[in-house]
Amino acid sequence: MSDDRNTALADTLAEAGRRVGQAMTDALESIQPAFDALADVANRPGVRAVIERAQQAIRRRPCLCFCLRAHPADGDVCEMLGAVISGQYHSDLLGDIDVPLCAPCAAARAAREFAG
Ligand SMILES: [Zn+2]
Ligand SMILES: [Zn+2]
Repeated sequence: MSDDRNTALADTLAEAGRRVGQAMTDALESIQPAFDALADVANRPGVRAVIERAQQAIRRRPCLCFCLRAHPADGDVCEMLGAVISGQYHSDLLGDIDVPLCAPCAAARAAREFAG
């Protein structure tokens, strides 16, 4: 009698464990296609190019020109992630500090200084 009950309990536990295991497997299997799809998308040439461009952009120095103040007349020349040289920026708080500038901004600032 007690043996039967133990067997029944063991069966129940085994069944519960099997169901949990199956549920886990099902869950993983339902996630898997999403991972595969992501990996697939990430490997497409167009997407790879976008990712690489984003990585390059992250590595590049941003232009910290404050265009609207420094050269309002040429406010849209900025290559925002193409800073190539350092320019001077005067801040009342920090004094004269070097800021990275892109080439068009540097030119626009120089032109404005020359004109003004
Ligand atoms: Zn600028
Ligand atoms: Zn700029």
